[in-house]
Amino acid sequence: PSLSKLLIVFTVSGGGLVAYSEAAKSYENPNAGELVEANNRKKKVVVLGTGWAGTSFLKNLKDPSYDVQVISPRNYFAFTPLLPSVTCGTVESRSVVEPIRNIIRKKHVDAYYWEAECVKIDPENKKVYCRSNLDTNGNGKEEFAVDYDYLVISVGARVNTFNIPGVEENTFFLKEVEDAQKIRRTVIDCFEKASLPTLSDEERKRLLHFVIVGGGPTGVEFAAQLHDFVNEDIVRLYPKVKDLVKITLLEATDHILNMFDKRITAFAEEKFQRDGIDVKTGSMVVKVGDKEISTKDVKRGDITSMPYGMAVWSTGIGTRPVIMEFMKHIGQGNRRVLATDEWLRVEGQDNVYALGDCATINQRKVMEDIAAIFHKADKDNSGTLTVKEFQEVLKDICERYPQVELYLKSKKMSNLADLLKESKGDGVKESVEVNIEDFKSALSQVDSEMKNLPATAQVASQQGVYLANCFNRMEECEKNPEGPLRFRGEGRHRFHPFRYRHLGQFAPLGGEQTAAQLPGDWVSIGHSTQWLWYSVYASKQVSWRTRALVVSDWVRRYIFGRDSSQI
Ligand code: FAD
Repeated sequence: PSLSKLLIVFTVSGGGLVAYSEAAKSYENPNAGELVEANNRKKKVVVLGTGWAGTSFLKNLKDPSYDVQVISPRNYFAFTPLLPSVTCGTVESRSVVEPIRNIIRKKHVDAYYWEAECVKIDPENKKVYCRSNLDTNGNGKEEFAVDYDYLVISVGARVNTFNIPGVEENTFFLKEVEDAQKIRRTVIDCFEKASLPTLSDEERKRLLHFVIVGGGPTGVEFAAQLHDFVNEDIVRLYPKVKDLVKITLLEATDHILNMFDKRITAFAEEKFQRDGIDVKTGSMVVKVGDKEISTKDVKRGDITSMPYGMAVWSTGIGTRPVIMEFMKHIGQGNRRVLATDEWLRVEGQDNVYALGDCATINQRKVMEDIAAIFHKADKDNSGTLTVKEFQEVLKDICERYPQVELYLKSKKMSNLADLLKESKGDGVKESVEVNIEDFKSALSQVDSEMKNLPATAQVASQQGVYLANCFNRMEECEKNPEGPLRFRGEGRHRFHPFRYRHLGQFAPLGGEQTAAQLPGDWVSIGHSTQWLWYSVYASKQVSWRTRALVVSDWVRRYIFGRDSSQI
């Protein structure tokens, strides 16, 4: 039903929950006082989502002068990096989740949680419209509206199917805890079905062909987990069909793990080949039927089909409908994700912030700022800098914008001078001055190719911490708008812009081996890195409870193997 036609709308107003109908304008909800303490003095902060970004914001918000409403269809935080481990029972699903009420209960801040999904954001009236998944009156799902003074949008992203026919209906996603649970049940299902006496060998082979689409870190880790599960546990339980198992990993580009250092990519490809995992690069999925998957060879263009028993889709992320609608409403309809400035404020919107996978810092603004840095360094206004001055500018740019640095590193360019050299087709010598026009043309190359900050938990959680710290100091800064002396005359905002610190990336490859790319381009691969992975992931857990559960799951798996019962 269209939201404007809602008969019953609940609105949280002044911190108190009020129910009203369009006909009988408003009446007091008798339970309102119990639900939310009315406190008109407090600024209302509405947080959408309980994922990495939202939870890290909530955990770090300490200023008690806010009235916080958390809205999410999921009443828990999920530690997504361990989801591939849940698919094969290495870790139990309950070990990777923490109830959001446990997280907000400990706070000095007044925080309330509503289990609902935001369906519309109305920035003009500073309201969000929500729909609860829970049906309390038998008339359908509950719908209500919540007022805000500050809105924090951290709803993450959804799976991107690229509108390829059959993907939605026939493949499994690996995004949520429920997805990992479904995959775990279906893997066992395939083995049980293949063991039935009535099946032909052909059909058994099909059922035990597991196809993973997407050679990114998630697809690769799932393939490795599945391989370990089959070889360490399943072979003992299903000896008759063990030889029929096949794992295929499909990747459209030339290599798997192509965001990693080439040494890691090469190691992973060789290891998978030794393990018998069939890695098909340059293979783009064009259609998924219920028993057959069709791929197109990117170079030759020919289409082939292969029978499969189970397919897992892990190719990338797309925008959630509520964000798409909001983007259209605020004139960002031509973008893929919400554009924010460097302070994570949604461009052109008052008091609306966006972080995590649903947002990105606007590249155009970044480019303007980078050009401004150049002009500032160009003290004599000659339009040129010496290479030495230029290197200083570049250092400043890379510090402010880690994505530029990530881009340059991915291109194996230690500095922009190399990029200039490439774009001009000649060398930049120490004595040669760098012209602003050359710089701009090189920048436009960066602009078109430069990747956004990666959509990772690392970025999302750092953004949550950053924004919470800004909110913690907001009141102080409003009273004293000039801010501390060191910020005066510095720029447009009282807070430092958000800066991402890349702490490295892991790629678990199975057989107790992991690859890690750590800051400073330090690469480490092998069994010792697996121990580093264990320690980092144990330490990153959101609570002592989940930490204890995850570690005990690892020990349990080591002693007893994975549980293959179908519950
Ligand atoms: P999410 O964590 O997805 O949270 C979004 C929240 O919004 C959820 O609570 C959701 O229920 C809620 N929501 C959705 N729609 C609405 C709505 N309409 N209204 C209100 N709430 C809504 N990153 C790493 O850095 N390292 C890793 O090893 C890693 N491994 C991964 C493995 C897997 C299997 C997956 C799927 C992701 C992995 N990632 C990893 C990526 C990481 O999980 C994401 O980048 C991160 O979750 C983004 O955080 P977020 O808060 O933006 O979104």
